[in-house]
Amino acid sequence: MSRFFSEKYASLVPYTPGEQPKAMRYIKLNTNESPFPPSPEAIRLAAEAARNLQLYSDPQCTDLVEEACRRFGLERDEILFTNGSDEILNFAFMAFCDREHPAAFPDITYGFYSVFADLNGVPYDAIPLAEDFTVQVEDYIGIHKTIFLANPNAPTGLTISLSDIQRIAASNPDNVVIIDEAYVDFGGESALGLIRKYDNLLVTQTFSKSRSLAGGRLGFGAGCKALIADLNAIKYSTNPYNINSLTMAAGIGALRDEAYFGANCRAIMDTREWATAELRALGFRVTDSKANFVFAASPAIGGQELYLRLKERGILVRHFETPRLKDYNRITIGSQEQMEALLAALRDILEATP
Ligand SMILES: *Cc1c(COP(=O)(O)O)cnc(C)c1O
Repeated sequence: MSRFFSEKYASLVPYTPGEQPKAMRYIKLNTNESPFPPSPEAIRLAAEAARNLQLYSDPQCTDLVEEACRRFGLERDEILFTNGSDEILNFAFMAFCDREHPAAFPDITYGFYSVFADLNGVPYDAIPLAEDFTVQVEDYIGIHKTIFLANPNAPTGLTISLSDIQRIAASNPDNVVIIDEAYVDFGGESALGLIRKYDNLLVTQTFSKSRSLAGGRLGFGAGCKALIADLNAIKYSTNPYNINSLTMAAGIGALRDEAYFGANCRAIMDTREWATAELRALGFRVTDSKANFVFAASPAIGGQELYLRLKERGILVRHFETPRLKDYNRITIGSQEQMEALLAALRDILEATP
């Protein structure tokens, strides 16, 4: 830290992204990326857009917004695109949280929520999940806090129902409720259809997982027009050109190619169900994930130990060394071949474990 670093950030603990190794060819099952390349239509449109990189990108994302509105049944003023959904989540902390509107989210969830809260000086409540990692909905009823819920949750893959989301939104009318749907396309139920019913509901999604554009950085938030106007005030006060023109074009292509998107989501879900059954047959405890990852623990070997043994064999998974998670690993669903390699490695490792 330099002697110039602002006092207000002195105790900041930044988010730790999953490893992105360059040296060795790993089977990468650690950051929930798609094993499939972007849609050919996304690649084609991005390459075309490269010809105009001398110009600033469209701050209103006009064409992308139009395509998304068609796809999701929204109006222009009900959606805002951002540089990954991480950016809209940060905007939501900036716009809708302060000392009078503290944040609340589960103790086990996406690690960025607490980082954004600290960054913005927002007090927060980390509400414990139940022993089986489910969200206890009663803990969120009428709490007068700005609530962040990932649905499906990470790293558990577990979901909450739309009727529970409605109860939470209805019982906290003076706070915004943010539903982070980063993984919704892998078998969850989207709350997008509820944004006209609850003026305090903001739904976020990302193109990083189900649309194979993690490196493009594209996400969005959808909510009533007043909420989106607030978030636009933040956007235009930080970076009006937050979506670069290559990504904007790729996003349009990804939305147009619904067949490719649907086939990839189905493939991931099929492989997830197969891998879950195989892991359980090997004795693993595995949550009922509706995401593009599974969360699994073996009674035979510790989580960290397993993570290291897999890494030696060229397979990366995500391990969290916190008390309630340390027995587990979060394993991204890759291609069927990658998951077969994972299971072969697990059988080897378990055989060599006394
Ligand atoms: C991956 C992820 C995000 C954001 O990803 P971006 O790449 O920034 O769009 C948000 N929430 C959760 C729960 C995630 O897992």
